Amino acid sequence: MSFDHAFKLTNTLTRTKDVFVPEDRTNVRMYVCGPTVYDYAHIGNARPVVVFDTLFRLLRHLYGAEHVTYVRNITDVDDKINARAAAEGVSIGELTERTAAQYHADMRALGALDPTIEPRATEHIAEMKAMIEQLVAKGHAYVAEGHVLFDVGSMADYGKLSGRSLEDMQAGARVEVAPYKKDPMDFVLWKPSKEGEPGWPGPCGIEEPGRPGWHIECSAMARRHLGETFDIHGGGADLVFPHHENEVAQSRCSHGTEVMARYWLHNGFLQVEGEKMSKSLGNFITVHDLLETEKLGGRVWPGAAIRLALLMTHYRQPLDFTEKSLSEAEGLLQKWDALLASMPADKADTKVPDALVEALCDDLNTPRAIAVLHGLAREARGGDTQAKAALAASLDFLGVDLTGIRAAAEEVTARAADPELAARVDGLIAERNAARAAKNWGEADRIRDLLAAEGVVLKDARNADTGTVETTWELAR
Ligand SMILES: [Zn+2]
Repeated sequence: MSFDHAFKLTNTLTRTKDVFVPEDRTNVRMYVCGPTVYDYAHIGNARPVVVFDTLFRLLRHLYGAEHVTYVRNITDVDDKINARAAAEGVSIGELTERTAAQYHADMRALGALDPTIEPRATEHIAEMKAMIEQLVAKGHAYVAEGHVLFDVGSMADYGKLSGRSLEDMQAGARVEVAPYKKDPMDFVLWKPSKEGEPGWPGPCGIEEPGRPGWHIECSAMARRHLGETFDIHGGGADLVFPHHENEVAQSRCSHGTEVMARYWLHNGFLQVEGEKMSKSLGNFITVHDLLETEKLGGRVWPGAAIRLALLMTHYRQPLDFTEKSLSEAEGLLQKWDALLASMPADKADTKVPDALVEALCDDLNTPRAIAVLHGLAREARGGDTQAKAALAASLDFLGVDLTGIRAAAEEVTARAADPELAARVDGLIAERNAARAAKNWGEADRIRDLLAAEGVVLKDARNADTGTVETTWELAR
């Protein structure tokens, strides 16, 4: 494999674009923080899934699918879960099972491959307790009033990942600090559970039932499934501090290693229609809304269009998710699908073009990769069948599945050929013509709008020979 020299990723830890060299090229290891399962994933949650799925696909291509391990956890113990289950009057298990199943369905619809391993927090309590006890034994954590806290002062370079100094953080800390904390920045590894909340016997001889803090989950699950150190850790930029900083602190201090992961990748924020997404603004959009309800633009959207819209912006940049960007992505896919509809069946052995792989090896430059697709489509339109096959292979590589786009196109074709529809539309066009002749514009517009609502688009054009306006129709795709 000769890609190492050209494969670069922007590393939050070093703040530079670093050449990626895996610790062990027969087992390239990546961890990405997964969902807390209490509600539908929103479109902002989907961004890292699609970004790191694209990276997962690239790693599999470069090192071989059997040489890549991708771990994405499920957080199934959390205060938000407890609150939601109580509010809905369902058991915690029922809520987390249902939400995890919905998450899987939504992410698969976006073309995301399942991770290699998807560990659940509640199945790794023993590992978390062992790590907490190790931290206490090494003097990096202490027990206080049923809690176990990480002692940030015990780690010389705490704050390195996020580029914060402990002094600055202490100065900015809230005035009201829990009395059992030695330092306001000390964070929870284990805390007591209240009556009715999920709880387990604690580490360090704590008998009262308690539960782990969020950060320790990821450290313990990464350790169990990827080892003390691994290659890539990913997540949204909002996780750098405190979550990832604290993961680093726990893992390095318990294992005595210089690093946790050697490459830290963070995707930028996502906005909707130029605004921060929030329930109060009414612009809170879930993946389920886009796929199944008609919340955005009064219609549902194909998963492939959502995926492409997310990949049109480089992962490190802020992304403005808009109805226009979704339409653009869908329009592109429709054009490419129409080109590929006449694809010869022998494309299966077509190789992914080097230009596409090179674009992704340049810090996962998906806008550049999409430009490669545009180039291939241009050549394909010019009659180059090899380019057509390469376009199909590239879409496949990027996880853009045209099945839904193709099905919609076929449905439109079948509907357009329906003689009953044609007769009805022709009848309505005749009525509209009569209304226009009588200068009854209101009625003419009503008929046009009625048909538009059914996806029938009328086109008026003056016949150059006869001078009369003739109306034709087609179905909107
Ligand atoms: Zn995490």
